[in-house]
Amino acid sequence: MSDFLVIGGGVLGLLTARELAAEGATVTLLEKGECGREASWAGGGIVSPLYPWRYSEPVTALAQEAQRAYPALAESLLNETGIDPEWEQSGLLMLDADDAAEALVWAQRVGGRMEALQEEQIYAREPALAQGFEQGLWMPAIANIRNPRLLKSLLASLRANPRVRLVERASVTDFILSPGGDTVSGLVVDQQGQSLQFSAQRIIVTAGAWSAGLLRALSVELPVEPVKGQMLLYRPEKPLLTSIVLTEGRYLIPRRDGHLLAGSTLEHSGFDKSTSDEALRSLQASAQALLPALASTPVLRQWAGLRPGAPQGVPFIGAVPGLRNLYINAGQYRNGLVLAPASVGLMLDILLARSPRVDPRPYDPALRQR
Ligand SMILES: Cc1cc2nc3c(=O)[nH]c(=O)nc-3n(C[C@H](O)[C@H](O)[C@H](O)COP(=O)(O)OP(=O)(O)OC[C@H]3O[C@@H](n4cnc5c(N)ncnc54)[C@H](O)[C@@H]3O)c2cc1C
Repeated sequence: MSDFLVIGGGVLGLLTARELAAEGATVTLLEKGECGREASWAGGGIVSPLYPWRYSEPVTALAQEAQRAYPALAESLLNETGIDPEWEQSGLLMLDADDAAEALVWAQRVGGRMEALQEEQIYAREPALAQGFEQGLWMPAIANIRNPRLLKSLLASLRANPRVRLVERASVTDFILSPGGDTVSGLVVDQQGQSLQFSAQRIIVTAGAWSAGLLRALSVELPVEPVKGQMLLYRPEKPLLTSIVLTEGRYLIPRRDGHLLAGSTLEHSGFDKSTSDEALRSLQASAQALLPALASTPVLRQWAGLRPGAPQGVPFIGAVPGLRNLYINAGQYRNGLVLAPASVGLMLDILLARSPRVDPRPYDPALRQR
């Protein structure tokens, strides 16, 4: 029996397992498919909320903490596994935001680096942009991370760690409760048609968009729902951008190797992960409105993922009400990649009774149920 069971092998589950093992604990991670193939793979990897000033304090607190942690995390994964997650401080350029004045006040208050740019400064920075953008906000410290590589390096790290057991194609279907009903004594797991049982002293749900469905088996209701996002991948003949560019909720992300990602849609369509021609056309139109050269650049790939949507994008991090050894870390919505190191750090602070790095109350499932 491991000290901890982690349910779900996305960025949150993988990082949780790595951090717990680093503290000397033994961990078994159960993943219904293959690790690192759902939202955490599908995301864009911007290491910032989009329009960060429009989010509440709890999201900002985790984002700032995580942004500080990312360079060291990427470096330690590269040193340990030889796989570079490509943390790249590309900066973020936001065009024609109509609440720029509020943004600048916010940046000053939270100590974020942000400059207002006029037309000539926008085009000096990104000459391939379409004409007509008059106002910009520039955040030079913002990075992007190549999330599929981040997941690959996390997996390589876990596979080499004797304290960690990864069990893939193992779907948790039910919880077994102690006679008193206040402790989870085991999990029922379906592994390719075989019913297995796993137990641990403590269990952490990091099942992303599926977390609410899982907890429903315990009659615990949590408002986490899937929100589909579709993305496109280009590889222009020559690099067209150096920074992440964002306007009207749509963005382009340049990768180190010349790939360019265009995102993303926001769709409430349950657990359907199919891609659509409508989204393709809409994302292409947004991408070309930013970079006209993309009109003659083929789309290499289109994909979709399911974000774990929670109210206001504030994740649930903490003990599941009514159960002594069950915890949740889910609902990071559009910001699960940026928030991951801080969300996992806070989860560990709670599990290991350390002084919490941020005030834990805004994320506490018990307090938010009232
Ligand atoms: C198009 C798109 C763009 C995005 N862009 C960004 C961005 O630029 N920056 C950013 O910060 N965030 C971004 N996000 C959001 C981010 O990707 C998510 O918030 C984050 O990946 C959630 O991580 P997770 O580990 O909670 O979920 P997931 O990665 O979905 O992992 C959950 C895992 O749990 C497993 N699971 C579920 N149920 C069970 C079960 N019963 N038993 C066992 N395993 C189970 C699933 O198979 C899955 O592997 C984007 C998301 C999308 C879709």
